[in-house]
Amino acid sequence: MAKGTIFVVTAPSGAGKTTLVAALLAADQQIQLSVSYTSRVARAGEVDGKDYHFVDRAAFEGMIQAGDFIEWAEVYGNYYGTSKKWLESVIDDGRDILLEIDWQGAQQVHKLFPDSVGVFVLPPSINTLEQRLRARGKDPEDAIQRRMSKAREEMGHVSEAQYVIINEHIDDAVRDIISVVRAERLRGDRQAVRHADLVNSLKA
Ligand code: 5GP
Repeated sequence: MAKGTIFVVTAPSGAGKTTLVAALLAADQQIQLSVSYTSRVARAGEVDGKDYHFVDRAAFEGMIQAGDFIEWAEVYGNYYGTSKKWLESVIDDGRDILLEIDWQGAQQVHKLFPDSVGVFVLPPSINTLEQRLRARGKDPEDAIQRRMSKAREEMGHVSEAQYVIINEHIDDAVRDIISVVRAERLRGDRQAVRHADLVNSLKA
């Protein structure tokens, strides 16, 4: 059976990744979102098992030792990682996966799965990014500046992705990400495996 495809979505905070991913998942029932493990504490409204699997640092380090992660990274002083067992069971079952992870994780996934598809989401300008971060509310100035410098670091890795979506108008960006997923599914090499019987039956 054809394995599922891994889509890795990377973006600086403020680029609108969460909205974009939510719209893709609503439009495409075939793609499964990976729920990461993290050692960060849950924010108000976050649900364990849905937004993240929340574990403490010691438990996370134990999971690293046990080889439970396909990739993991430390971001803003907290650990984040993707479950190996879950990911392998879903792609072995022929289903596609979406990972929302940082550039360090994206690099690790691409090394292990060269066939995975990297999608980078950019803001239309640095000013827009800053305005979006400020519009979120009550972050103090130094926190905004920290996020801005982290965002610039993340955006330095844009050329590592196969697709780049500029999120100026969310409706256009949603169409773009849906198109990426559809186009990747239609690639000749993937279709040849998925529809091997059909292709064989049609050949001379
Ligand atoms: P937040 O704490 O705001 O939810 O996420 C902070 C950062 O961690 C984001 O850039 C997000 O993409 C990244 N992240 C979330 N889950 C994972 C993961 O499983 N692996 C890696 N490498 N990064 C992750």
